[in-house]
Amino acid sequence: MAYDYDDQNIFAKILRGEIPNSTVAETDHSLAFNDIAPQAPIHVLVIPKGAYVNFDHFAAEASDAEIVDFSRLVSKITQDLGLAPEGNGEGYRLIANSGLNGHQEVPHYHIHILAGRPLGPMLVK
Ligand code: 5GP
Repeated sequence: MAYDYDDQNIFAKILRGEIPNSTVAETDHSLAFNDIAPQAPIHVLVIPKGAYVNFDHFAAEASDAEIVDFSRLVSKITQDLGLAPEGNGEGYRLIANSGLNGHQEVPHYHIHILAGRPLGPMLVK
């Protein structure tokens, strides 16, 4: 599979420091920051620093170290924000949009962490 990464996408510009962001956490391979248009009281985006278009690209071509770093950072954030059910948190939702039907707007792989209110059914019909 060939993946076509557009290095002018907004998250690439954030990673290059060309536009500001509200950083939540940063690791060697990943960055987490607040969504500019939050859909819930907590709306954090987690992105790999590498140039991956979407989940499939990341799963296929990221190194094991990048994948572990990314997954652990998502989990660290849910725990640090007190969201994880195992820490008596009220829970959260992870979303990774991809492609047309997924309504992915920014073509740099990211996970949305949404929380802070009941999030309703998984999808609006
Ligand atoms: P997608 O639809 O691609 O899954 O979600 C893209 C997300 O990026 C949206 O929730 C949108 O609000 C967010 N976003 C778009 N531009 C910016 C920006 O410049 N800064 C931040 N922090 N978030 C952005």
